[in-house]
Amino acid sequence: MRKTIKDILKEAPGQKVDVKGWVRTRRGNKNVQFVALNDGSTINNLQIVFDLSKFSEEDLKPITTGSSIHVEGELVASQGSGQNVEVQAEKLEVYGTSPADYPLQKKGHSMEFLREKAHLRPRTNTFGAVLRIRHALAYAVHKFFNDRGFYYFHTPLITASDCEGAGAQFQVTTMPLNDLPKTEDGNIDYSKDFFGKMASLTVSGQLEGELGATALGLIYTFGPTFRAENSNTPRHLSEFWMIEPEMAFYEIDDNMNLAEEFIKYCVKYALDNCYDDIKFLNDHFDPELIDRLKFVIDNDFVRLSYGEGIEILEKSGKKFEFPVHWGVDLASEHERYLVEEHFKKPVILTDYPKEIKAFYMKLNDDGKTVRAMDVLFPKIGEIIGGSQREENYDKLMSRVKEMGLEGMDWYLDTRKYGTVPHSGFGLGFERLVLFVTGMQNIRDVIPFPRYPKACEY
Ligand code: ATP
Ligand code: MN
Repeated sequence: MRKTIKDILKEAPGQKVDVKGWVRTRRGNKNVQFVALNDGSTINNLQIVFDLSKFSEEDLKPITTGSSIHVEGELVASQGSGQNVEVQAEKLEVYGTSPADYPLQKKGHSMEFLREKAHLRPRTNTFGAVLRIRHALAYAVHKFFNDRGFYYFHTPLITASDCEGAGAQFQVTTMPLNDLPKTEDGNIDYSKDFFGKMASLTVSGQLEGELGATALGLIYTFGPTFRAENSNTPRHLSEFWMIEPEMAFYEIDDNMNLAEEFIKYCVKYALDNCYDDIKFLNDHFDPELIDRLKFVIDNDFVRLSYGEGIEILEKSGKKFEFPVHWGVDLASEHERYLVEEHFKKPVILTDYPKEIKAFYMKLNDDGKTVRAMDVLFPKIGEIIGGSQREENYDKLMSRVKEMGLEGMDWYLDTRKYGTVPHSGFGLGFERLVLFVTGMQNIRDVIPFPRYPKACEY
C-alpha cells in the first residue's frame, strides 16, 4: 500500500515501503543514482537510491525531472546529509515519462513565468507550500468558528441584491447578448431573463448572513465572492474567497475582539501545522516572514478612530500620492503608513465618515461617523472590513432611501421583527494567505487566479 512521503519521513528505518510521486531531480554516478521524489504531501523530498548493480542505465533512463514513478524498497538510515532516511530501491515502475520540454526543469523561475504556467505550478516547491498553507488556513477558519458555536451558513452566489449599493458586479444572464429583448421604453427587458429579473454574482454574503445571524445567533460564511472592478493590484482578484462572520448581540468592541482573536488563531494554526512550508518560504523569499507572523500573534492590535488616523497622516509630513484629509477614503499607501511606519503593528481603525462606508453601518451619535472597523495589516493594508450594523428600522430606512436602494424589504424585515444589535466583518481569505505565506502578489496564493483579462483553465 502506498504511503505518503510525509508519513514515510517520520518512519523508523528497517522496513519495506511503497512510494509513488514525481521526480524532482536525478543525479549520481556509474555505481549509484539518487532521485529526489516528491508526492505533494510535504515540501520535503524522499531520496531514492538506485544501485546500478540492480538496475541498468536503460531502466533509469525514463526517470527525468517531472516523470512519475512507483518504487518499492527498503527504508534505510541515510548516509548523506539532508535527510534521516532514504529508500534503497528494489522495484521500479514508471507511470509517465516527462520530455525535456517540461517547463519546470530548473529552480528559481520567476513568479510571472509560473503564472503563465499556472496549470503546472502547483508542482513547484513554492506553490506546493502555498497551497498546503492555504488548505491549513481554510481548515483553521472552520475549526475556529465551529469551536466557538458558530454555524456555517451558505449564502447564494447568484443574487439579485447588490450589497454595497454600488456596481462592479458580474451579471448572470442567459439572454442572447446580440439580440436583447427590450421593453417599450427601450430598456433591457429582464423579465425575459432566466430569473425574470437582473441577477449577478455576489460581491458579499453579508446581507443574507444577517438573516442567518438574526435566527441562529452566530454564523459565518466562507465562499467565493466576485468583483468586477478593474483593479490591477497585487491585492485584488476578480474571484476570491471571503469569510463573513455575523453575530447577533455583538457590539463593535466584541466585533473587534473576535476579529483580532480570529486572525491570531489562523496565523498560529499555520505556524503550528505548516512550519516546514513556512520555513521554506521564509528561507527562499522573505527572511522576516516567521518573525512577522510571531509578532502578530504576540502583540495587541492598535485601535484608533479614523479621525485620529487622519491626524497622524496629516502630521506625518509624508508626500502621499493621494492627498489625505478628513473625509477621504484611505488608500493602501495611507493604511500601510499607519501600520508599517507609524505604529509598526496591525491597526484596527474605527468610526469612519458615513459617506465613504456602506448604508447598513450603525450611525454614531455625532451623526457624521459610522461604527465601521477596518483591520489594517503590514504589507497588505486592509485585510478585514466590518462594522456594527444599524439595527434601528427608521434610521436604516432613511439610509436606504438616501441611497435610492430598492427591493430591500426582506433585509429591512430583520429590523422590523425583533431587531437586535449585531455586528460582523469580512476577511478576504487570499489576503490572509498572502500575509501568512509572505507572497508578494495575491495572484500567487490561489490556484487559478481570475483578474482583468485573465481567465485561463
Ligand atoms: P479594498 O478597499 O482593499 O478594495 P474593500 O473595502 O472593497 O477592499 P470589503 O468590501 O470591505 O473590501 O471586503 C471585505 C474584505 O474582502 C476586504 O477587507 C479584503 O480583505 C477582501 N477583498 C475585497 N475585495 C477584494 C478583492 N478584489 N480581491 C481579494 N480580496 C478582496
Ligand atoms: Mn472594506
